[in-house]
Amino acid sequence: MMKVCVVTGGTRGIGFETVKAFLKEGYRVVLYGSRQETVQKALTELNDPNVSGKWTKLTDVEKMKEDFKAIVDEFGSLDVLINNAGISDATPFEKYSEEHFDKVMDLNIKAPFACSLAALDFMKEQGGGVILNTSSMVGTYGQPSGVAYPTSKFAVNGFTKSLARELGKYNIRVNAVAPGITETDMVKALPKEMIEPLIKMIPLRRVGEPQDIANAFVFLASDAAKYITGAILPVDGGQVQ
Ligand code: NAD
Repeated sequence: MMKVCVVTGGTRGIGFETVKAFLKEGYRVVLYGSRQETVQKALTELNDPNVSGKWTKLTDVEKMKEDFKAIVDEFGSLDVLINNAGISDATPFEKYSEEHFDKVMDLNIKAPFACSLAALDFMKEQGGGVILNTSSMVGTYGQPSGVAYPTSKFAVNGFTKSLARELGKYNIRVNAVAPGITETDMVKALPKEMIEPLIKMIPLRRVGEPQDIANAFVFLASDAAKYITGAILPVDGGQVQ
């Protein structure tokens, strides 16, 4: 039986590369995106019989439970949940509205909470599982504007460490990957003058590729990491030390 991996925010960027990496590892993958069109586009590009997609609201525990039940019924298990969907933010503090703050917190931390809670019973019942969260280097440093984003990533770290302590007894491992600057569409669009000084601050002298982050997820999901839980693994070329 193939192992089953769910990747939220799997339609592009780090998530899309992570979907490809788990397919290559022989997993059955279910990717989540925010809209049907982007999910369809990703599935068409992947063109792989072992991947399917959904666009359920990630903060809705009951809906996610229904989804996960359908996944377990169809594919036999839910082995790995990767809470990757996220939005970044650079809004100056005085320009924040409550709604905007809530929007960032909802996707970046409430969604991992809701999806993990929805997955719990299935993982418990099958004798274990792996939950992986996407943090960020700003979860160590903060950043000059857009306070909700680092706040949410500090919360992701706290969620990861606490849940690891609580769910270890069920053989459920909970870890996070903290990417540095990673070359997704957003970073590719930045002007050279902006990106070059940033690269000088990275010991390995390059920005990360989505594949670098996907590799870390593959490792943390694998049996090679079976004694690792509660870890926040930086994958940032050495930038955060
Ligand atoms: P991206 O913008 O390329 O992809 C974001 C994904 O999240 C997409 O698949 C999108 O469908 C999904 N998404 C967005 N809004 C959504 C919503 N409301 N509901 C459901 N899904 C939604 O981003 P990325 O750069 O690949 O980032 C992925 C993760 O990595 C995020 O958690 C981000 O905070 C983190 N991260 C990225 C970087 C970087 O430099 N790219 C650095 C550190 C951490």
